[in-house]
Amino acid sequence: MELNEHANFIEDIINEELAEGKVTTVHTRFPPEPNGYLHLGHAKSLCINFGTAEKYGGLCNLFFDDTNPSKEKTEYVEAIKKDIEWLGFKWYEVHYASDFFDDIYRLAIKLIKDGKAFVCDLTADEIRDMRGTLTEPGKESPYRNRSIEENLELFENMKNGKYADGEKVLRAKIDMASPNINMRDPVIYRVLHAEHHRTGNKWCIYPMYDYAHPICDSMQGVTHSLCTLEFEDHRPLYNWVIENTGVTHKPRQIEFARLNVTNTVMSKRYLKKLVEDGSVTGWDDPRMPTLTGLRNRGIPAQALKNFCEEIGVAKANSEIEVGYFEHFTRDYLNEHAPRAMAVMRPVKVVIDNYDGGEYVETDVNPNLETPEKRNVYFSKEIYIDEEDFSLAPPPKYFRLKPDGMVRLKGAYVIVCTGYETDENGNVTLVHANYLPETRSGSDNSGIKVKGTIHWVSAEKCVPAEIRKYDFLLKDAAYPGQDFSERMNENSLTVFNGYAETYLDEAAEGESFQLLRTGYYKKFVENGKLVLSEIVSLKDSFKK
Ligand code: ATP
Ligand code: MG
Repeated sequence: MELNEHANFIEDIINEELAEGKVTTVHTRFPPEPNGYLHLGHAKSLCINFGTAEKYGGLCNLFFDDTNPSKEKTEYVEAIKKDIEWLGFKWYEVHYASDFFDDIYRLAIKLIKDGKAFVCDLTADEIRDMRGTLTEPGKESPYRNRSIEENLELFENMKNGKYADGEKVLRAKIDMASPNINMRDPVIYRVLHAEHHRTGNKWCIYPMYDYAHPICDSMQGVTHSLCTLEFEDHRPLYNWVIENTGVTHKPRQIEFARLNVTNTVMSKRYLKKLVEDGSVTGWDDPRMPTLTGLRNRGIPAQALKNFCEEIGVAKANSEIEVGYFEHFTRDYLNEHAPRAMAVMRPVKVVIDNYDGGEYVETDVNPNLETPEKRNVYFSKEIYIDEEDFSLAPPPKYFRLKPDGMVRLKGAYVIVCTGYETDENGNVTLVHANYLPETRSGSDNSGIKVKGTIHWVSAEKCVPAEIRKYDFLLKDAAYPGQDFSERMNENSLTVFNGYAETYLDEAAEGESFQLLRTGYYKKFVENGKLVLSEIVSLKDSFKK
């Protein structure tokens, strides 16, 4: 195996193990809990798990950590699979923690028989109170020294449904004085009378994550169990379970930093709250940082992967600027999205010295290797954006103003000859003349204008609902502040404008650069053309 030059710290570890012959095939797994939809943060974990396996010609499993039956649903399992497929990753095998419940149970009995686990009658509160602190050791449970026989019988009773939820737990017998609180006789099984989305009512005891996860990794043949930093303190317990259950295959846990992004809610629990309280239209609302939301928004899967690749694998937590993510989307769409015109805040312009209509030419996308042109209809009446006409223009205003000139993209230069207003002084109509000798492509008039604006023919256009988005969160967090206090109330703005018929004819789901506006995705809703913002044109990100 060739060592690569730009190895991250995980690859450094793997390279060493391969060199020493400790590992032959790299086997990772992506381990979501099916209790919600995947988000941007999971994309990083996906890229690391699938990406590392791919790089070494290894394998990556999809592993559903379904040990919390009350929160998990098949709906989420299906959604998670769809999101992973969207990113173009192919899992080797799919497994569920619940597939291993029998093994996990059998190994718990082994721990009991080896004197390494005991049934405890303390309540959750009592266990917490006796756990000690970072500076003080914990107190041993009065049930810690039950005989192996009694433990076996009580554990069997737990399994057979003799106890109510919380009445008894199985705990690993490790060390109540350990400096690592996770090692102070952690609970490894609990009683929970809940129907499981896959095992139904077969079990009324469920293993805890820290106990089940290493066993499941081992059973799947995982070599590298890659997880986020909050599990670093749990690694001694992970290793304890591997050593003491005596599983033959021994995986290794390696932690990396979570992805946090400014202005972005990045937790399933909070995202769920947004869906439930109606702050968004659903998990796939285009403002949501869920993968289904990003897909619906029109974020190209490749742009998301490029972003993850670029932020890399870090050992320390940090926050990435949301602008950096947008940058990758913009970059990708700039190369791939056809150009079109739509006007968000339309004002009609009548070109008094022009009659009839004609087709003018425009670039489909100037960045294409083989440039293509298409036709745009030009006519006597057009719409321009309200912001492109000013009665009180600031200095260096190069758009249209009374007596001013501007170029209409792909068409002619026009001169403003007058305007009409309503009783409030709002412009309702603009009058202009066109300069026939300035036709784009054949202009040798020598007339120089500084501004070019976009427009649509009022005769051949379609009404369009144009949706522009802002971030769900207003600003950075203050310590201890709840995300609900940071919600941006104005994350959606709707404009009723006009679009070229080209956009009406395009396939649903296609993305475009609306000239001078941004990248937009086309939808049809109730028969109406909807243009939904993917990302604005302006790149505020400074590398
Ligand atoms: P949440 O707190 O949003 O529910 P989670 O960590 O509980 O996230 P899991 O379903 O357990 O979600 O996550 C599956 C995998 O994705 C885990 O290995 C987890 O560490 C990783 N992951 C989750 N969030 C992030 C993130 N923001 N950055 C990187 N990896 C993440
Ligand atoms: Mg979780």
